[in-house]
Amino acid sequence: MRVRLLVVAVAVLCCARVVPAEDAAAAGWKAGVASVKVTPDGPAWMAGYAARDKPSEGVEQDLFAKSLVIQDPAGETLVMVTLDLISVPGPLRKFVEQQLTESRKLKPKNLVMNCSHTHCGPEIRTTGSALEGLEPDRRAQSIAYVQTLQQRIVSSIDSAFENLAPARLAFQKARAAFAMNRRLPTDRGYSNSPNPDGRVDHDVPVLRVETADKKLKAIVFGYACHNTTLGFYQMCGDYAGYAQEYLEAAHPGTVALFMMGCGGDQNPYPRRTLELAKQHGQTLATAVDAALDTPQREITGSLTLAFGTADLEYADAPKKADLLEQAKSTNKYDSRYAERLLKELDQGTLLTSYPAPVQAARIGDQVLFVALPGETVVDYSLRIKNENRKSNGPDVWVAGYSNDVFAYIPSLRVLLEGGYEAGGAMRYMTTVVQPGPFAPNVEDILMRRVNELIKETSE
Ligand SMILES: [Zn+2]
Repeated sequence: MRVRLLVVAVAVLCCARVVPAEDAAAAGWKAGVASVKVTPDGPAWMAGYAARDKPSEGVEQDLFAKSLVIQDPAGETLVMVTLDLISVPGPLRKFVEQQLTESRKLKPKNLVMNCSHTHCGPEIRTTGSALEGLEPDRRAQSIAYVQTLQQRIVSSIDSAFENLAPARLAFQKARAAFAMNRRLPTDRGYSNSPNPDGRVDHDVPVLRVETADKKLKAIVFGYACHNTTLGFYQMCGDYAGYAQEYLEAAHPGTVALFMMGCGGDQNPYPRRTLELAKQHGQTLATAVDAALDTPQREITGSLTLAFGTADLEYADAPKKADLLEQAKSTNKYDSRYAERLLKELDQGTLLTSYPAPVQAARIGDQVLFVALPGETVVDYSLRIKNENRKSNGPDVWVAGYSNDVFAYIPSLRVLLEGGYEAGGAMRYMTTVVQPGPFAPNVEDILMRRVNELIKETSE
Protein backbone atom coordinates (compact mmCIF):
# COMPACT_ATOMS: atom_id res chain seq x y z
CA MET A 1 0.00 0.00 0.00
CA ARG A 2 2.74 2.39 0.99
CA VAL A 3 4.65 1.61 -2.21
CA ARG A 4 1.51 2.28 -4.26
CA LEU A 5 0.91 5.59 -2.51
CA LEU A 6 4.51 6.52 -3.16
CA VAL A 7 4.16 5.63 -6.85
CA VAL A 8 1.02 7.74 -7.11
CA ALA A 9 2.73 10.61 -5.34
CA VAL A 10 5.74 10.41 -7.65
CA ALA A 11 3.47 10.21 -10.67
CA VAL A 12 1.56 13.29 -9.55
CA LEU A 13 4.80 15.15 -8.92
CA CYS A 14 6.15 14.13 -12.33
CA CYS A 15 2.99 15.22 -14.08
CA ALA A 16 3.00 18.50 -12.23
CA ARG A 17 6.60 19.15 -13.23
CA VAL A 18 6.72 18.07 -16.86
CA VAL A 19 3.45 19.39 -18.31
CA PRO A 20 4.60 21.52 -21.24
CA ALA A 21 2.60 24.54 -22.40
CA GLU A 22 0.95 22.74 -25.33
CA ASP A 23 -0.35 19.99 -23.01
CA ALA A 24 -2.05 22.63 -20.94
CA ALA A 25 -3.81 23.80 -24.12
CA ALA A 26 -4.67 20.28 -25.21
CA ALA A 27 -6.07 19.59 -21.78
CA GLY A 28 -8.94 21.96 -22.53
CA TRP A 29 -10.30 19.58 -25.21
CA LYS A 30 -12.67 16.71 -24.56
CA ALA A 31 -13.67 13.67 -26.57
CA GLY A 32 -16.12 10.80 -26.31
CA VAL A 33 -16.56 7.87 -28.69
CA ALA A 34 -18.94 4.96 -29.20
CA SER A 35 -19.73 2.24 -31.68
CA VAL A 36 -22.96 0.29 -32.26
CA LYS A 37 -23.71 -2.58 -34.58
CA VAL A 38 -26.17 -1.83 -37.39
CA THR A 39 -26.04 -5.16 -39.23
CA PRO A 40 -29.62 -6.17 -40.07
CA ASP A 41 -30.97 -9.18 -38.18
CA GLY A 42 -31.36 -11.90 -40.79
CA PRO A 43 -31.51 -11.64 -44.58
CA ALA A 44 -32.12 -8.16 -46.01
CA TRP A 45 -32.16 -6.58 -49.46
CA MET A 46 -28.83 -4.98 -50.20
CA ALA A 47 -27.86 -1.62 -51.66
CA GLY A 48 -25.34 -0.64 -54.30
CA TYR A 49 -25.99 -2.81 -57.34
CA ALA A 50 -29.33 -2.48 -59.15
CA ALA A 51 -28.93 -5.97 -60.62
CA ARG A 52 -29.15 -7.78 -57.27
CA ASP A 53 -32.21 -10.03 -57.31
CA LYS A 54 -32.38 -11.57 -53.84
CA PRO A 55 -31.73 -10.65 -50.21
CA SER A 56 -28.44 -11.14 -48.37
CA GLU A 57 -27.28 -14.65 -47.51
CA GLY A 58 -25.19 -14.08 -44.43
CA VAL A 59 -22.79 -11.79 -42.64
CA GLU A 60 -19.09 -11.74 -43.54
CA GLN A 61 -18.42 -8.74 -41.30
CA ASP A 62 -20.65 -6.68 -39.02
CA LEU A 63 -21.55 -3.11 -39.95
CA PHE A 64 -21.31 -0.24 -37.47
CA ALA A 65 -22.51 3.27 -36.73
CA LYS A 66 -19.79 5.10 -34.82
CA SER A 67 -19.87 8.47 -33.11
CA LEU A 68 -17.04 10.70 -32.01
CA VAL A 69 -17.87 13.84 -30.03
CA ILE A 70 -15.11 16.44 -29.76
CA GLN A 71 -15.40 19.55 -27.66
CA ASP A 72 -13.05 22.53 -27.58
CA PRO A 73 -12.02 24.36 -24.39
CA ALA A 74 -14.99 26.75 -24.75
CA GLY A 75 -17.48 23.88 -25.09
CA GLU A 76 -18.09 24.14 -28.86
CA THR A 77 -19.01 20.64 -30.02
CA LEU A 78 -18.63 18.61 -33.19
CA VAL A 79 -20.44 15.26 -33.43
CA MET A 80 -18.91 13.06 -36.11
CA VAL A 81 -20.99 10.04 -37.14
CA THR A 82 -19.62 7.45 -39.53
CA LEU A 83 -21.68 4.63 -41.02
CA ASP A 84 -20.65 1.37 -42.66
CA LEU A 85 -23.54 1.84 -45.08
CA ILE A 86 -24.19 2.80 -48.69
CA SER A 87 -25.52 6.27 -48.00
CA VAL A 88 -26.54 9.03 -45.65
CA PRO A 89 -29.99 9.85 -47.00
CA GLY A 90 -31.09 13.45 -46.31
CA PRO A 91 -34.06 12.37 -44.14
CA LEU A 92 -31.77 10.22 -41.95
CA ARG A 93 -29.50 13.17 -41.26
CA LYS A 94 -32.55 15.40 -40.61
CA PHE A 95 -33.83 12.93 -38.02
CA VAL A 96 -30.50 12.81 -36.14
CA GLU A 97 -30.12 16.58 -36.42
CA GLN A 98 -33.57 17.12 -34.86
CA GLN A 99 -32.80 14.74 -32.02
CA LEU A 100 -29.61 16.66 -31.25
CA THR A 101 -31.44 19.98 -31.37
CA GLU A 102 -34.13 18.74 -28.99
CA SER A 103 -31.93 16.84 -26.56
CA ARG A 104 -28.76 18.95 -26.57
CA LYS A 105 -29.65 22.25 -28.24
CA LEU A 106 -27.10 21.59 -30.96
CA LYS A 107 -27.27 23.21 -34.41
CA PRO A 108 -26.85 21.63 -37.84
CA LYS A 109 -23.24 22.84 -37.93
CA ASN A 110 -22.47 20.68 -34.87
CA LEU A 111 -23.15 17.42 -36.73
CA VAL A 112 -21.39 15.70 -39.61
CA MET A 113 -22.55 12.33 -40.92
CA ASN A 114 -20.50 10.33 -43.39
CA CYS A 115 -20.99 6.89 -44.97
CA SER A 116 -18.37 4.41 -46.14
CA HIS A 117 -20.49 3.63 -49.24
CA THR A 118 -20.06 -0.11 -48.81
CA HIS A 119 -22.00 -1.93 -51.53
CA CYS A 120 -22.46 -4.91 -49.19
CA GLY A 121 -24.87 -3.35 -46.71
CA PRO A 122 -28.66 -3.09 -46.46
CA GLU A 123 -30.72 -0.76 -48.60
CA ILE A 124 -31.81 2.40 -46.76
CA ARG A 125 -35.12 3.66 -48.09
CA THR A 126 -36.27 6.82 -46.36
CA THR A 127 -38.71 8.45 -48.78
CA GLY A 128 -42.01 7.59 -50.46
CA SER A 129 -40.39 7.50 -53.88
CA ALA A 130 -37.71 5.11 -52.59
CA LEU A 131 -40.34 2.74 -51.16
CA GLU A 132 -42.66 2.87 -54.14
CA GLY A 133 -43.37 -0.35 -55.97
CA LEU A 134 -41.72 -2.63 -53.41
CA GLU A 135 -43.26 -5.96 -52.40
CA PRO A 136 -45.10 -5.49 -49.06
CA ASP A 137 -42.61 -7.63 -47.10
CA ARG A 138 -39.60 -5.84 -48.49
CA ARG A 139 -41.25 -2.47 -47.88
CA ALA A 140 -42.09 -3.32 -44.26
CA GLN A 141 -38.58 -4.65 -43.64
CA SER A 142 -37.05 -1.54 -45.17
CA ILE A 143 -39.14 0.80 -43.00
CA ALA A 144 -38.35 -1.22 -39.87
CA TYR A 145 -34.61 -1.17 -40.63
CA VAL A 146 -34.52 2.62 -40.98
CA GLN A 147 -36.33 3.00 -37.64
CA THR A 148 -33.82 0.70 -35.95
CA LEU A 149 -30.93 2.48 -37.63
CA GLN A 150 -32.15 5.89 -36.44
CA GLN A 151 -32.40 4.68 -32.86
CA ARG A 152 -28.97 3.04 -32.95
CA ILE A 153 -27.27 6.14 -34.35
CA VAL A 154 -28.85 8.28 -31.65
CA SER A 155 -27.84 5.77 -28.98
CA SER A 156 -24.24 5.75 -30.25
CA ILE A 157 -24.16 9.56 -30.02
CA ASP A 158 -25.60 9.42 -26.49
CA SER A 159 -22.94 6.88 -25.46
CA ALA A 160 -20.21 9.09 -26.92
CA PHE A 161 -21.49 12.05 -24.89
CA GLU A 162 -21.58 9.85 -21.79
CA ASN A 163 -17.86 9.08 -22.03
CA LEU A 164 -16.84 12.62 -22.92
CA ALA A 165 -13.57 13.21 -21.04
CA PRO A 166 -10.44 15.35 -21.29
CA ALA A 167 -8.53 14.43 -24.42
CA ARG A 168 -5.53 15.25 -26.57
CA LEU A 169 -6.17 15.55 -30.27
CA ALA A 170 -3.58 15.44 -33.01
CA PHE A 171 -3.47 15.24 -36.79
CA GLN A 172 -1.17 13.66 -39.32
CA LYS A 173 -1.53 12.13 -42.76
CA ALA A 174 -0.05 9.40 -44.95
CA ARG A 175 -0.80 7.92 -48.37
CA ALA A 176 -2.27 4.73 -49.80
CA ALA A 177 -2.34 3.89 -53.48
CA PHE A 178 -4.93 1.19 -54.17
CA ALA A 179 -7.53 3.73 -55.39
CA MET A 180 -7.41 4.24 -59.14
CA ASN A 181 -9.46 6.55 -61.33
CA ARG A 182 -12.27 4.49 -62.89
CA ARG A 183 -13.16 6.70 -65.87
CA LEU A 184 -11.42 5.40 -68.98
CA PRO A 185 -11.76 7.41 -72.21
CA THR A 186 -12.74 5.14 -75.10
CA ASP A 187 -14.10 5.58 -78.64
CA ARG A 188 -17.60 5.26 -77.17
CA GLY A 189 -17.20 7.74 -74.34
CA TYR A 190 -16.00 7.19 -70.79
CA SER A 191 -16.29 3.62 -69.56
CA ASN A 192 -16.19 2.36 -65.97
CA SER A 193 -12.71 0.82 -66.17
CA PRO A 194 -9.37 1.42 -64.45
CA ASN A 195 -7.58 4.47 -65.81
CA PRO A 196 -4.01 4.62 -64.49
CA ASP A 197 -3.62 8.10 -66.00
CA GLY A 198 -6.74 9.52 -64.34
CA ARG A 199 -6.76 11.85 -61.35
CA VAL A 200 -6.54 10.41 -57.84
CA ASP A 201 -6.34 11.65 -54.25
CA HIS A 202 -4.23 9.22 -52.26
CA ASP A 203 -4.13 11.18 -49.00
CA VAL A 204 -5.03 9.35 -45.79
CA PRO A 205 -5.87 12.06 -43.22
CA VAL A 206 -5.83 10.83 -39.62
CA LEU A 207 -7.26 12.49 -36.52
CA ARG A 208 -5.83 10.87 -33.40
CA VAL A 209 -7.71 11.12 -30.13
CA GLU A 210 -5.97 10.17 -26.90
CA THR A 211 -7.14 10.16 -23.32
CA ALA A 212 -5.51 12.67 -20.97
CA ASP A 213 -3.06 9.92 -19.95
CA LYS A 214 -2.08 9.32 -23.59
CA LYS A 215 -4.00 6.13 -24.31
CA LEU A 216 -5.34 5.93 -27.84
CA LYS A 217 -9.12 6.39 -27.68
CA ALA A 218 -10.23 6.97 -31.26
CA ILE A 219 -8.82 7.26 -34.75
CA VAL A 220 -10.75 9.01 -37.52
CA PHE A 221 -9.27 8.43 -40.94
CA GLY A 222 -10.28 9.13 -44.51
CA TYR A 223 -9.71 7.84 -48.03
CA ALA A 224 -11.17 8.77 -51.41
CA CYS A 225 -12.19 5.50 -53.03
CA HIS A 226 -15.44 3.68 -53.78
CA ASN A 227 -15.93 0.94 -51.23
CA THR A 228 -16.59 -1.58 -53.97
CA THR A 229 -14.03 -4.33 -53.87
CA LEU A 230 -16.97 -6.68 -53.33
CA GLY A 231 -20.40 -7.28 -54.78
CA PHE A 232 -21.49 -10.54 -53.19
CA TYR A 233 -24.55 -11.38 -51.09
CA GLN A 234 -22.86 -11.16 -47.67
CA MET A 235 -23.04 -8.16 -45.36
CA CYS A 236 -19.56 -6.64 -45.21
CA GLY A 237 -17.87 -3.27 -44.66
CA ASP A 238 -15.51 -3.98 -47.60
CA TYR A 239 -12.01 -2.47 -47.48
CA ALA A 240 -13.12 0.36 -45.14
CA GLY A 241 -14.66 -2.17 -42.76
CA TYR A 242 -11.46 -4.23 -42.70
CA ALA A 243 -9.27 -1.16 -42.21
CA GLN A 244 -11.36 -0.23 -39.15
CA GLU A 245 -11.38 -3.83 -37.86
CA TYR A 246 -7.59 -4.19 -38.21
CA LEU A 247 -6.91 -0.83 -36.52
CA GLU A 248 -9.20 -1.70 -33.60
CA ALA A 249 -7.46 -5.08 -33.26
CA ALA A 250 -3.99 -3.51 -33.38
CA HIS A 251 -4.93 -0.81 -30.85
CA PRO A 252 -7.20 -2.52 -28.28
CA GLY A 253 -9.71 -0.17 -26.67
CA THR A 254 -9.66 2.22 -29.63
CA VAL A 255 -12.61 2.96 -31.90
CA ALA A 256 -11.59 3.48 -35.55
CA LEU A 257 -13.93 5.58 -37.69
CA PHE A 258 -13.72 5.70 -41.49
CA MET A 259 -14.70 8.81 -43.45
CA MET A 260 -15.16 8.52 -47.17
CA GLY A 261 -13.42 11.16 -49.25
CA CYS A 262 -14.28 12.44 -52.74
CA GLY A 263 -14.12 8.96 -54.26
CA GLY A 264 -17.03 9.25 -56.69
CA ASP A 265 -14.79 8.41 -59.65
CA GLN A 266 -12.32 6.14 -57.83
CA ASN A 267 -12.35 2.36 -57.44
CA PRO A 268 -10.16 -0.04 -55.50
CA TYR A 269 -8.10 -2.14 -57.90
CA PRO A 270 -7.77 -5.05 -58.24
CA ARG A 271 -11.17 -6.06 -56.95
CA ARG A 272 -13.92 -8.69 -56.74
CA THR A 273 -12.56 -11.07 -54.08
CA LEU A 274 -12.83 -11.07 -50.30
CA GLU A 275 -9.05 -11.51 -50.07
CA LEU A 276 -8.57 -8.26 -51.98
CA ALA A 277 -11.03 -6.37 -49.75
CA LYS A 278 -8.98 -7.53 -46.75
CA GLN A 279 -5.73 -6.67 -48.48
CA HIS A 280 -6.89 -3.12 -49.33
CA GLY A 281 -8.15 -2.79 -45.75
CA GLN A 282 -4.72 -3.81 -44.46
CA THR A 283 -3.03 -1.36 -46.83
CA LEU A 284 -5.21 1.46 -45.55
CA ALA A 285 -4.74 0.45 -41.90
CA THR A 286 -0.97 0.40 -42.46
CA ALA A 287 -1.12 3.93 -43.91
CA VAL A 288 -3.05 5.05 -40.83
CA ASP A 289 -0.39 3.49 -38.61
CA ALA A 290 2.27 5.28 -40.64
CA ALA A 291 0.49 8.58 -39.96
CA LEU A 292 0.25 7.71 -36.25
CA ASP A 293 3.98 6.95 -36.27
CA THR A 294 4.92 10.33 -37.75
CA PRO A 295 5.45 13.38 -35.49
CA GLN A 296 1.97 14.65 -34.70
CA ARG A 297 0.42 18.09 -35.11
CA GLU A 298 -1.22 18.52 -31.73
CA ILE A 299 -4.59 20.27 -31.96
CA THR A 300 -4.65 23.59 -30.14
CA GLY A 301 -7.01 26.55 -30.34
CA SER A 302 -10.73 26.11 -30.85
CA LEU A 303 -13.47 24.59 -33.01
CA THR A 304 -15.11 26.92 -35.50
CA LEU A 305 -18.04 25.48 -37.44
CA ALA A 306 -20.10 26.51 -40.46
CA PHE A 307 -22.95 24.77 -42.28
CA GLY A 308 -25.08 25.75 -45.25
CA THR A 309 -26.62 24.53 -48.47
CA ALA A 310 -25.67 24.94 -52.11
CA ASP A 311 -28.62 25.01 -54.50
CA LEU A 312 -27.35 22.80 -57.27
CA GLU A 313 -29.23 23.36 -60.50
CA TYR A 314 -30.19 20.65 -62.95
CA ALA A 315 -29.84 20.94 -66.72
CA ASP A 316 -33.03 21.55 -68.73
CA ALA A 317 -35.95 19.35 -67.69
CA PRO A 318 -36.66 16.27 -69.81
CA LYS A 319 -39.51 16.64 -72.33
CA LYS A 320 -42.70 14.65 -71.88
CA ALA A 321 -42.68 13.31 -75.45
CA ASP A 322 -39.15 11.97 -75.00
CA LEU A 323 -40.07 10.35 -71.69
CA LEU A 324 -43.16 8.68 -73.18
CA GLU A 325 -40.91 7.21 -75.87
CA GLN A 326 -38.30 6.12 -73.31
CA ALA A 327 -41.01 4.46 -71.18
CA LYS A 328 -41.49 1.94 -74.01
CA SER A 329 -37.86 0.85 -73.86
CA THR A 330 -37.12 -2.84 -73.37
CA ASN A 331 -34.31 -1.84 -71.01
CA LYS A 332 -36.04 -2.06 -67.61
CA TYR A 333 -33.86 0.67 -66.06
CA ASP A 334 -34.65 3.07 -68.93
CA SER A 335 -38.38 2.43 -68.83
CA ARG A 336 -38.67 2.53 -65.05
CA TYR A 337 -36.74 5.80 -64.88
CA ALA A 338 -38.94 7.36 -67.58
CA GLU A 339 -42.06 6.31 -65.66
CA ARG A 340 -40.78 7.86 -62.44
CA LEU A 341 -39.96 11.11 -64.23
CA LEU A 342 -43.35 11.19 -65.97
CA LYS A 343 -45.04 10.85 -62.60
CA GLU A 344 -43.02 13.75 -61.17
CA LEU A 345 -43.79 15.80 -64.26
CA ASP A 346 -47.53 15.13 -63.98
CA GLN A 347 -47.51 15.97 -60.27
CA GLY A 348 -45.56 19.15 -60.90
CA THR A 349 -42.86 17.95 -58.49
CA LEU A 350 -39.98 17.52 -60.92
CA LEU A 351 -36.96 19.19 -59.32
CA THR A 352 -35.12 22.07 -60.95
CA SER A 353 -32.48 22.32 -58.22
CA TYR A 354 -31.46 20.53 -55.02
CA PRO A 355 -30.33 22.05 -51.69
CA ALA A 356 -27.11 20.15 -51.03
CA PRO A 357 -25.58 20.51 -47.54
CA VAL A 358 -22.02 21.81 -47.28
CA GLN A 359 -19.97 22.04 -44.10
CA ALA A 360 -16.66 23.47 -42.95
CA ALA A 361 -14.91 23.13 -39.60
CA ARG A 362 -11.65 24.40 -38.19
CA ILE A 363 -10.42 21.79 -35.77
CA GLY A 364 -8.02 23.93 -33.81
CA ASP A 365 -5.37 25.80 -35.74
CA GLN A 366 -4.17 22.57 -37.33
CA VAL A 367 -7.04 21.17 -39.45
CA LEU A 368 -9.48 22.68 -41.92
CA PHE A 369 -12.17 20.05 -42.46
CA VAL A 370 -14.67 20.31 -45.32
CA ALA A 371 -17.59 17.87 -45.72
CA LEU A 372 -19.22 17.71 -49.13
CA PRO A 373 -22.56 16.12 -50.01
CA GLY A 374 -23.26 13.41 -52.55
CA GLU A 375 -20.87 11.20 -54.42
CA THR A 376 -18.39 13.96 -55.09
CA VAL A 377 -15.61 13.24 -57.58
CA VAL A 378 -11.94 13.64 -56.79
CA ASP A 379 -11.57 17.00 -58.56
CA TYR A 380 -13.29 18.64 -55.58
CA SER A 381 -10.89 17.44 -52.88
CA LEU A 382 -7.86 18.17 -55.07
CA ARG A 383 -9.15 21.68 -55.82
CA ILE A 384 -10.12 22.53 -52.22
CA LYS A 385 -6.78 21.28 -50.88
CA ASN A 386 -4.89 23.10 -53.60
CA GLU A 387 -6.67 26.40 -53.00
CA ASN A 388 -6.47 26.29 -49.20
CA ARG A 389 -3.06 24.78 -48.48
CA LYS A 390 -0.70 27.33 -46.95
CA SER A 391 2.75 26.76 -45.55
CA ASN A 392 2.45 26.50 -41.76
CA GLY A 393 -1.34 26.68 -42.21
CA PRO A 394 -3.82 23.99 -41.27
CA ASP A 395 -3.88 20.64 -43.04
CA VAL A 396 -6.91 20.44 -45.31
CA TRP A 397 -9.18 17.38 -45.03
CA VAL A 398 -12.01 17.00 -47.54
CA ALA A 399 -14.69 14.37 -46.96
CA GLY A 400 -17.28 13.53 -49.59
CA TYR A 401 -20.36 11.33 -49.04
CA SER A 402 -21.49 13.49 -46.14
CA ASN A 403 -24.82 14.64 -44.73
CA ASP A 404 -26.95 13.89 -47.81
CA VAL A 405 -25.76 11.38 -50.38
CA PHE A 406 -28.44 11.93 -53.00
CA ALA A 407 -26.55 11.72 -56.32
CA TYR A 408 -23.13 11.82 -57.96
CA ILE A 409 -21.78 15.36 -58.04
CA PRO A 410 -19.45 15.76 -61.02
CA SER A 411 -16.95 18.56 -61.48
CA LEU A 412 -17.41 20.65 -64.62
CA ARG A 413 -14.66 18.56 -66.28
CA VAL A 414 -16.42 15.26 -65.52
CA LEU A 415 -19.83 16.71 -66.48
CA LEU A 416 -18.52 17.76 -69.89
CA GLU A 417 -16.71 14.47 -70.44
CA GLY A 418 -19.95 12.56 -69.82
CA GLY A 419 -20.43 9.00 -68.63
CA TYR A 420 -21.74 7.41 -65.46
CA GLU A 421 -20.69 9.97 -62.82
CA ALA A 422 -21.62 12.86 -65.16
CA GLY A 423 -25.30 11.94 -65.28
CA GLY A 424 -25.62 8.32 -66.40
CA ALA A 425 -26.07 7.22 -62.79
CA MET A 426 -28.95 9.61 -62.05
CA ARG A 427 -31.55 6.99 -63.01
CA TYR A 428 -30.42 4.65 -60.22
CA MET A 429 -30.81 7.17 -57.38
CA THR A 430 -33.63 6.17 -55.04
CA THR A 431 -34.01 8.69 -52.21
CA VAL A 432 -34.67 11.63 -54.51
CA VAL A 433 -35.93 11.31 -58.11
CA GLN A 434 -33.18 13.02 -60.08
CA PRO A 435 -34.51 14.80 -63.20
CA GLY A 436 -31.25 14.35 -65.10
CA PRO A 437 -27.71 15.72 -65.11
CA PHE A 438 -26.66 18.87 -63.26
CA ALA A 439 -26.25 22.15 -65.14
CA PRO A 440 -22.71 23.18 -66.14
CA ASN A 441 -22.57 25.65 -63.23
CA VAL A 442 -22.56 22.78 -60.69
CA GLU A 443 -18.91 23.13 -59.71
CA ASP A 444 -19.16 26.94 -59.51
CA ILE A 445 -22.19 26.85 -57.23
CA LEU A 446 -20.78 24.16 -54.94
CA MET A 447 -17.34 25.80 -54.72
CA ARG A 448 -18.78 29.23 -54.06
CA ARG A 449 -20.62 27.84 -51.03
CA VAL A 450 -17.55 25.91 -49.88
CA ASN A 451 -15.46 29.08 -50.00
CA GLU A 452 -18.09 31.13 -48.16
CA LEU A 453 -18.24 28.55 -45.37
CA ILE A 454 -14.46 28.24 -45.12
CA LYS A 455 -14.33 32.03 -44.81
CA GLU A 456 -17.01 31.92 -42.12
CA THR A 457 -14.86 29.57 -40.03
CA SER A 458 -11.93 31.98 -40.11
CA GLU A 459 -13.86 35.09 -39.06
ZN1 LIG B 1 -21.23 5.11 -55.82
